[in-house]
Amino acid sequence: MPLLHTDDVTVAFGGRRALDNVSLDVEAGRITGLIGPNGAGKSTFFDVVSGLRRPETGRVVLDGKDITVLGPARRARRGMARTFQHLELFGRLSVRDNLLVAAELGPGRRHASRTVNAVLARLGIEDSCDDLADSLPTGTARLVEVGRALVLEPRVLLLDEPAAGQDAQETERFAAMLRDLATEGTAVLLVEHDMSLVMSVCDRIHVLDLGVVVAGGPPADIQRNRTVLAAYLGEG
Ligand code: ADP
Ligand code: MG
Repeated sequence: MPLLHTDDVTVAFGGRRALDNVSLDVEAGRITGLIGPNGAGKSTFFDVVSGLRRPETGRVVLDGKDITVLGPARRARRGMARTFQHLELFGRLSVRDNLLVAAELGPGRRHASRTVNAVLARLGIEDSCDDLADSLPTGTARLVEVGRALVLEPRVLLLDEPAAGQDAQETERFAAMLRDLATEGTAVLLVEHDMSLVMSVCDRIHVLDLGVVVAGGPPADIQRNRTVLAAYLGEG
């Protein structure tokens, strides 16, 4: 049984379906990719999974339990953490304090400082720990956003375009970090436009277009899928 599962999730904005019967599995110890052009519904899907938006129809199931009506805080307590495509850092706080604020909400709150140090090291951003979030280059700011999720020690980690603005070296390091997380058992759901990153780290990839899942499978299959190639891999 997958750790996280959605069943026929539908969301409409003003009569237009942003998600149309989306059913997806996200497994523990695996990196699952979610790709598709801008406007496909990827961020809306994250909103539904993380509890920020109630779907019109369908269910979100975590660990066999229907969590569709639970709010974000209760999902977080059950081990779900996400990042945002539009960064949500506290600009006037240091990198360390951004992580501490988050860690104090998580299961490691009694040893928040230790948790934060481990995450800073894991992301390779110890040298930036005293910098104000506002002053960071985008690639580093993205990592801090990921760090705010990681200090919650999630079982399910939802990443919305985490590598945007990272250079090649940062992306390579990030990919290795994601693989380590999966090896430790974390279920990672990755939305990302960097196709070489997606193809190299994901175990399975789902393709969304206009709210519909149009393809799913291992990276090699997705790469060979002509419809997918023509329609989606050209962009981003
Ligand atoms: P993606 O993350 O794949 O780029 P989004 O989930 O952001 O796509 O958007 C999917 C569709 O839903 C788009 O057509 C977008 O314009 C629309 N949409 C997203 N959020 C809202 C909203 N709050 N109100 C109205 N339309 C929205
Ligand atoms: Mg998006």
